[in-house]
Amino acid sequence: MSTASNRLPSGSAGTTRQVRQIVRGRPTSDGAGVKLTRVIGQPGLDMLDPFLMLDEFRSDQADDYIAGFPSHPHRGFETVTYMLAGRMRHGDNQGNSGLLTAGSVQWMTAGRGILHSEMPEQEDGLMWGFQLWVNLPAKDKMTAPRYQDIAPERIPEVRLADGASVRVIAGDIGGVRGPVEADATSPVYIDLRLEHGAAVDLPVPPGHNAFVYVYQGQARVGDGPSGDLARGDLGVLELGDSVRVTAPQAPARLILVAGRPLNEPVAKYGPFVMNTPQQIAQTIEDFRAGRF
Ligand code: MN
Repeated sequence: MSTASNRLPSGSAGTTRQVRQIVRGRPTSDGAGVKLTRVIGQPGLDMLDPFLMLDEFRSDQADDYIAGFPSHPHRGFETVTYMLAGRMRHGDNQGNSGLLTAGSVQWMTAGRGILHSEMPEQEDGLMWGFQLWVNLPAKDKMTAPRYQDIAPERIPEVRLADGASVRVIAGDIGGVRGPVEADATSPVYIDLRLEHGAAVDLPVPPGHNAFVYVYQGQARVGDGPSGDLARGDLGVLELGDSVRVTAPQAPARLILVAGRPLNEPVAKYGPFVMNTPQQIAQTIEDFRAGRF
């Protein structure tokens, strides 16, 4: 019995990526006391170039999220918020504002600096989603801030195989292109849903760093049980030009994220990510002087 019918063209005959490291997030809190799980940006996985941070927030207890993220700055990278459930109000010091609803994405390029707040716009019920930080190359760190607020209906959903479908947020999958524009790192960001027993092969640009994070159920990534991931497991992938994801035990929902590594020095200080300590010092001075 061939599985060839589930294979997508991946450009060239090459290698299928396997999981090279499994990482569990650690519980923490951020903002004004929002409880979350930090998966990238913690001792177990400091970063995965160009990804600096991945948080999952998920709670139906208002006390865990209601205080939100009041006014705070960013410079030098992009923040990507993907909402699975709940509503978050975004507003900045330039008068930009938007409501992130379930299924929507905000891809925010902080560039030279923004001062914004991210506040839950609900007083009860489930709040669930992710925030990913994507680094910018030196040449783009001081670019003008930009928002890509993407409503749920703008994210194409593609059926890839029996029992396998994806929402394409960024990148190309099965001939469908996601709505996000992010030239610096050419990211792939997809939300994959597999029914029990389903299997799919997904193309991944060969030189990109990539990870999979299972947020519901369990999945097998790669060819064998060494790639079995439970809910809350992040699998860092080896290089290669595709990845096989199956759901032999149970249905699964997961995100697959890939990006071109920048291979530049990283100087990080809280919400500022630059290349050198001198640039961080300048950033702090600019922030204190109200130049954001
Ligand atoms: Mn923020």
